[in-house]
Amino acid sequence: MFKSVLVTGGAGFIGSNFLNYLSTFSDIKIVNLDKLTYAANLENIKIQKDCDYTFVKGDICDTQFVQKVFEEYKINSVVHFAAESHVDNSITNPGAFIDTNIVGTFNLLQAAYKNWMEAPNVFKTGMENARFLHVSTDEVYGTLGKTGLFTEETSYAPNSPYSASKASSDMLVRSYFHTYGLPVVTTNCSNNYGPRQHNEKLIPTIIRKAISQESIPIYGDGKNIRDWLYVLDHCKGINLVLEKGKLGETYNIGGKNERENIYIAKTICEILDKIKPLESQKSYSDLITYVKDRPGHDFRYAIDASKIENELGWCAEENFESGIEKTIHWYLEKYNL
Ligand code: NAD
Repeated sequence: MFKSVLVTGGAGFIGSNFLNYLSTFSDIKIVNLDKLTYAANLENIKIQKDCDYTFVKGDICDTQFVQKVFEEYKINSVVHFAAESHVDNSITNPGAFIDTNIVGTFNLLQAAYKNWMEAPNVFKTGMENARFLHVSTDEVYGTLGKTGLFTEETSYAPNSPYSASKASSDMLVRSYFHTYGLPVVTTNCSNNYGPRQHNEKLIPTIIRKAISQESIPIYGDGKNIRDWLYVLDHCKGINLVLEKGKLGETYNIGGKNERENIYIAKTICEILDKIKPLESQKSYSDLITYVKDRPGHDFRYAIDASKIENELGWCAEENFESGIEKTIHWYLEKYNL
């Protein structure tokens, strides 16, 4: 089947890295649907020249528009990234998260169902190999104590409006598989980092504040732990699940790179001390400042990725120390430093 892939949110951080990766494959038509919110940047998209690529500006909450895109481009695969994704924004403006993450996902599922299937469990001719991959987060599982890992069996316990909206969308995706037989797969991933991430997120903030010699804000006591995954490793995992994942299943993707936030800040400062030493001979780490904690701040996330590793043969190629060096160099280039 010739693949006509709809990538939603392809102008965002992970979406743009995914598009750039996907465009290296041949015999594929890519449609990028993005509303271009503040989080988007079309300059992050560097598609291979011979790739059949179309950008369409629009909102996944617009039912008719989504239906039109499916029809016009004969979409038979979806990789759904589009979301409001920043936890802090979900605390100040939760409504946008409900609209995009829940209603938008519902619209895409409904359009896929209408375009791919005659009735529950009956595919339209030519659509038998259609796929809908929903990109979600490990935050749906809530928070861990000092030990334990999130598996695909862990109960959902979202703690922020962001994670609650993603959990809701995961449930909708699940329901379309069980009710209609829609060919869905879901990935739940840990924190990503790497080139093209929006300035507002933790790692770009640390790098930007350090090089402009402003105080580097770290929430609470800096002891919160995230399981960091280099974005290209995530993109490879998504593509593998799209190709080989078992329908109706979910796959956790994580890099086995648990690090405290304060470790992240100190490591970035140490690397900058080496590659861009301050004239004053001081360390960038002097700029680290603890600030009032985020309300409801989850303590620890950590992923057990053995299902995708054992069943699909995926494994993270970067560890945090190798990936962060590449990331810092990318941002220094972006800021012309
Ligand atoms: P991002 O915020 O960088 O990008 C989101 C993109 O979606 C933007 O280009 C934006 O314009 C677009 N968008 C937003 N609302 C839209 C709408 N209504 N219609 C069409 N487009 C819209 O997000 P990201 O960090 O790249 O995350 C992508 C996906 O991966 C999200 O679903 C997120 O929940 C999930 N995820 C992210 C991480 C992470 O660490 N960044 C980890 C796990 C899962």
